[in-house]
Amino acid sequence: MQFADLVADYERLEATSKRLEMREILVGLLRKVPPLELPALVYMMQGELRPEFEGVELGVADSLAARAVAQATGASEKAVSESLRSTGDLGSTTELLLPKRAGRLDTEPLRVEEVYAALERIARASGAGSQDLKIRILVELLARSSPAEAKYAVRFVLGKLRLGVREMTIVDALSFAFADGSKEARGQVEAAYNRSSDLGLVAEHVATGGVHGVEKIHIQVGRPIRPMLAERSPDLSDVLRRMDGRAALEYKYDGLRVQGHVPAEGPVQLFSRRLESISTQFPELVKELPKALRHRPAIVEGECVPVDPETDELRPFQEVSRRRGRKYDLERLQEEVPVRLFLFDVLLDHEGPTVDKPFPERRRALEALVHDSERVRLATQRIVDSEPEAEKFFDEAISAGCEGVMAKSLSEGSTYRAGARGFWWIKYKREYTHALADSIDGVVVGAFYGHGRRGGRYGALLLAVYDSDEDRFETFCKVGSGFDDATLEALPSKLKPFEVPEKPESVFTELKPDVWFRPAVVLEVRGAELTLSPIHRAGVGKIRPDAGLALRFPRFTGRWREDKDAENATTTAELISLYRSQVRQISAGGSSDEAT
Ligand code: AMP
Repeated sequence: MQFADLVADYERLEATSKRLEMREILVGLLRKVPPLELPALVYMMQGELRPEFEGVELGVADSLAARAVAQATGASEKAVSESLRSTGDLGSTTELLLPKRAGRLDTEPLRVEEVYAALERIARASGAGSQDLKIRILVELLARSSPAEAKYAVRFVLGKLRLGVREMTIVDALSFAFADGSKEARGQVEAAYNRSSDLGLVAEHVATGGVHGVEKIHIQVGRPIRPMLAERSPDLSDVLRRMDGRAALEYKYDGLRVQGHVPAEGPVQLFSRRLESISTQFPELVKELPKALRHRPAIVEGECVPVDPETDELRPFQEVSRRRGRKYDLERLQEEVPVRLFLFDVLLDHEGPTVDKPFPERRRALEALVHDSERVRLATQRIVDSEPEAEKFFDEAISAGCEGVMAKSLSEGSTYRAGARGFWWIKYKREYTHALADSIDGVVVGAFYGHGRRGGRYGALLLAVYDSDEDRFETFCKVGSGFDDATLEALPSKLKPFEVPEKPESVFTELKPDVWFRPAVVLEVRGAELTLSPIHRAGVGKIRPDAGLALRFPRFTGRWREDKDAENATTTAELISLYRSQVRQISAGGSSDEAT
């Protein structure tokens, strides 16, 4: 196929936003090409050379492309940048500046395969001298292009093709081009795409074998599966009703979704929810995941969450996002932002794909597969069949640092539905997140020894508020964040004078720190919010039986309240009223978190 023909279709696609029209253009285009050339065509339609999960990048920066355009058009770099200022698009600038093709008839018309091959060479060029090589290939390509062809070639190279063709429009077009276009045919094509995330592969199969051809596409280690998605629900009673009164509730961890592919042999690959390869960003998970599994091969899914290695508590999601997209400092970030992967599903194990099994069977398979390790754990789960049980579990999830719960259907139909959103999974989150308005002055009643970098020092302090009615100190958090190195170093000697061999009578807690202190030292902390907690004892029973209040994501502000003695710290009554003012803010309509 000539590149000019493809470009003509690109122009038609760009000119319309109507899905049906797009489909018509695509159907015509797909039928023009022999099956073996279809994958390349389909990837190119999406501005890619390979399926996105392979992460093939052309690696051409704007400035580099601008230089190539100057060379190919004979314009000065200044003229290029001036034109760029008015067009806003280097592709259009190239089209304007490139001499018309008349007079250059000495060259053969460009074929799509040639363009693809040139782009592939640009992508492959790496290491010393690769920038020059990339420019050279691009200049050669542009020199053989018509202005319109050059426009798209440049946009492609810059990753700005943007024809507006969505994956599902291609799925649609494939089912019309090579099958009868029925709902069923479309469903089969889409399912194959959901299993493989590779539209080129699907195109080739459907072109050669029709809808039955795509049945041959199986789940395969190394090829991400499009993730199953959850519906949402306004409250827990609605959740239970939709699940026939009984459901598996799981902590809804707030982190990054990770699909881990562990081949029988060889390195593990990790994919994000958007199916990008993220293996290089989490080398410790790549290393640890196979060790946490009893068998391989396997494909497992989980949430990667930042943890505080000192307190073992979860940290806010924002911290793990610091590790995304990083190329440098990976070692340091591994230490600074340690993560843990909480596995919640298995899509393939050593006996084969598990996606067609109902969820309870998959969970059993997952439990049989995984043994908890430092970095890899099973997602906490409980089967509930009443609203109070569900609420209790929800509170536990929140106080463990999660953003809510994920309810999962236990029915026969609860298979893993790749790429689909449905009521087999229902998320129920807190409707708000806001920083707690006030800081809290906590009394140090205990300390935990540190691990890793904090070995030999204190890793976290156990803090309490003062209950003046009971005259006792009730714990509300373990704080390990916000201490700089010098403070950490000084902590043991600072607290030494207050050390006691056993829990003081006046301290009320379920926790057992490594070192106990007589309540004396007060420090200021801030946190995200107050939550109901099964472990902390502050204000226990005042809001809900058996639940105390805990501060979520506590952080030392750096302020020692030397002006306060223990009895002048924040009181239990103040903590309760802070909690209540939060609850009032929620019912007054705190902002809801709609991120998906
Ligand atoms: P949302 O991003 O709010 O639509 O919620 C769905 C996301 O929650 C999933 O894509 C996962 O990344 C995440 N998640 C956290 N914990 C779980 C869990 N136990 N089961 C399934 N998904 C979970």
